[in-house]
Amino acid sequence: MSDSHPPNQQSVNQSTNVVWHDGKVNREDRARVLGHQGCTLWLTGLSGSGKSTVGVALEHVLNARGVLAYRLDGDNVRHGLNANLGFGADDRKENIRRIGEVAKLFADAGVVTISSFISPYQKDRDQVRQIHEDAGLIFLEVFINTPIEICEQRDPKGLYKKARAGEIKGFTGIDDPYEVPVNPEIEVKTGELDVEKAADELVAALVRHDIIPQNASHIRK
Ligand code: ADP
Repeated sequence: MSDSHPPNQQSVNQSTNVVWHDGKVNREDRARVLGHQGCTLWLTGLSGSGKSTVGVALEHVLNARGVLAYRLDGDNVRHGLNANLGFGADDRKENIRRIGEVAKLFADAGVVTISSFISPYQKDRDQVRQIHEDAGLIFLEVFINTPIEICEQRDPKGLYKKARAGEIKGFTGIDDPYEVPVNPEIEVKTGELDVEKAADELVAALVRHDIIPQNASHIRK
């Protein structure tokens, strides 16, 4: 920062005069070390649709195949990075924007990044897609498509019950909208597939998109 451009309120708040610093190791170098590419699998769906359950199963299968995978999960992220955000429309949007940026960094690092967030608005998901595509990273939108009746029957955290009783306001699917993905790369119907089969479908999609090799199994079964 030169004296002729002193920091002002705008630069403090909006990150002007910040320049990207390239390193000596690039994405391809990292992929060579790992034996696979990084990407983001963006699991979206209603609460109780199975995003976390499928994400956990997928991470486990990938790890067993020697693929570096990592989960970003709704409640976990809200404990830390996004602890200051609520569930109003603006905060939901900011929640997704931050997670999208984190996912992008992980994907760039070479990690198969599995994000499990309701992320109910198409515009917000498209924004996350855009930041990946601008960086030349693969973004796969995965619609965990489970009818709300099944989600409500499962109600693993008792949230539907509370929402129906009016104890939670603005609950997605009850009194807040869920916008069904317009053009997801992958759709998983957990009402019809068991968890292992759902994870297998996602592994197959990663192979199809040339993220991981067909026979990535060099660590352990
Ligand atoms: P979300 O992360 O979308 O809120 P969870 O994964 O926390 O959903 O909860 C889904 C619930 O549905 C879990 O209790 C899980 O055991 C159950 N479930 C039953 N069948 C399936 C399936 N085929 N895929 C995923 N979850 C399933």
